[in-house]
Amino acid sequence: MTHPTGNQHRPFRPGERVLLIDSKARRYMITLAEGGSFSTHAGTIPHADLIGRDEGILLRSSHGARLRAVRPTLSDFILKMPRGAQVIYPKDIGPILVLADIFPGARLLEAGVGSGALSMALLRAVGTEGSVVGYELREDFAAKAVKNVESFLGPDQPYRVELRDVYEGIEEAELDRIVLDLPEPWRVVKHATVALRPGGILLSYLPTIGQVARLREELDGSPFGLAETLEVLQRTWHVEGQSVRPDHRMVAHTGFLTVARLLDPDLPEVPGFGVAPESTV
Ligand code: SAH
Repeated sequence: MTHPTGNQHRPFRPGERVLLIDSKARRYMITLAEGGSFSTHAGTIPHADLIGRDEGILLRSSHGARLRAVRPTLSDFILKMPRGAQVIYPKDIGPILVLADIFPGARLLEAGVGSGALSMALLRAVGTEGSVVGYELREDFAAKAVKNVESFLGPDQPYRVELRDVYEGIEEAELDRIVLDLPEPWRVVKHATVALRPGGILLSYLPTIGQVARLREELDGSPFGLAETLEVLQRTWHVEGQSVRPDHRMVAHTGFLTVARLLDPDLPEVPGFGVAPESTV
């Protein structure tokens, strides 16, 4: 299947999403239509100026403003798409994929699904051979997630969202990974023990450290081990001529990532065995 916002080398066509970036780095996401036009205070650009042209072109609005046109990346789309619940930001999405070791072909459960930002990244990582089943309490969020996923990745994704409370249990079995973004993940641990295959990975994103402590306590008394908790700090830099320095502002906090693996429940826990190795860098 063609990825509607993928990076194939082909010209822009109607129905596609395009990101327009002005000289002040403001970003506008539009969907191309025959006869359509894009207007801001800086003037108008007919979609016809884009259709049939290559990514990266520089356009001039009716008022002479310059705009650059590219296809939105996954991060661009997440930051611009319609949202209901708070999304997980690209800063954390990358590390989640590696920490939870999401691989092509993996069978995943995700709860809750919210607006589907994380779902998109998970679906890309599991590929067409894998699958993502989402559990979500709210019907409006579930619908929004499905719509966002289809809008970015196209139809026929290996993605299903069920209106369910994951605290009440997990129907799926032999899962490779479970990824949680909800307030009380400790209530999922005993269900995850049954739903994951041995060696499977549970990852939880949590905004406060009290929640992390509660989760780690629950994991300690379970067959999960090799638990690790971390946060990701991302500092961007201002680079302009000789002025090269960190930006004045940064996002100081989003959430903590906790990951653990399902070990053999019949073996007693060996002291020190659940401890993650020190960083090797
Ligand atoms: N990770 C998502 C955002 C999730 S927001 C994204 O990147 O877009 C948290 C979601 O969890 C909310 O939509 C909420 O309705 C859902 N939720 C909370 N408790 C739940 C439960 N017990 N079972 C299923 N979903 C739950």
